[in-house]
Amino acid sequence: MKVILGSVEYEVEEVKDLKDNNKTQDKLNGLISADSLVIKLESDRPLTGKRITLIHEIIHGILCQSGRSKHIEAEVDALSYGLYDFIHKNPEIIDYITGKTNEKPKWIWNRETSNGLFRQAKRRWS
Ligand SMILES: [Zn+2]
Repeated sequence: MKVILGSVEYEVEEVKDLKDNNKTQDKLNGLISADSLVIKLESDRPLTGKRITLIHEIIHGILCQSGRSKHIEAEVDALSYGLYDFIHKNPEIIDYITGKTNEKPKWIWNRETSNGLFRQAKRRWS
């Protein structure tokens, strides 16, 4: 399996007993290497965990490619779980974003509903 980030292609491999050999020797769920252009995933995990870890490593790759090599691990974690959840709960939006359809899902793009939601959210966050 391959992942393309920007103009760079990474090979995705599953590895048993994945460790960070350059650092602590701690057991890892995933690892991305911009040097070898490989994303490694621990093979001995449930499939959902491997998918979330793949998203996690992709986020690391995107951040590093945009010059943000120092970033907060907890934020990468939050984004990876959040994106996994978003992708699974919003297949119509994913089809719209990827161009599989040009039809906007009506239930989310209703102007009155979304304005109401944004107003509510704004009130909660401010
Ligand atoms: Zn990480």
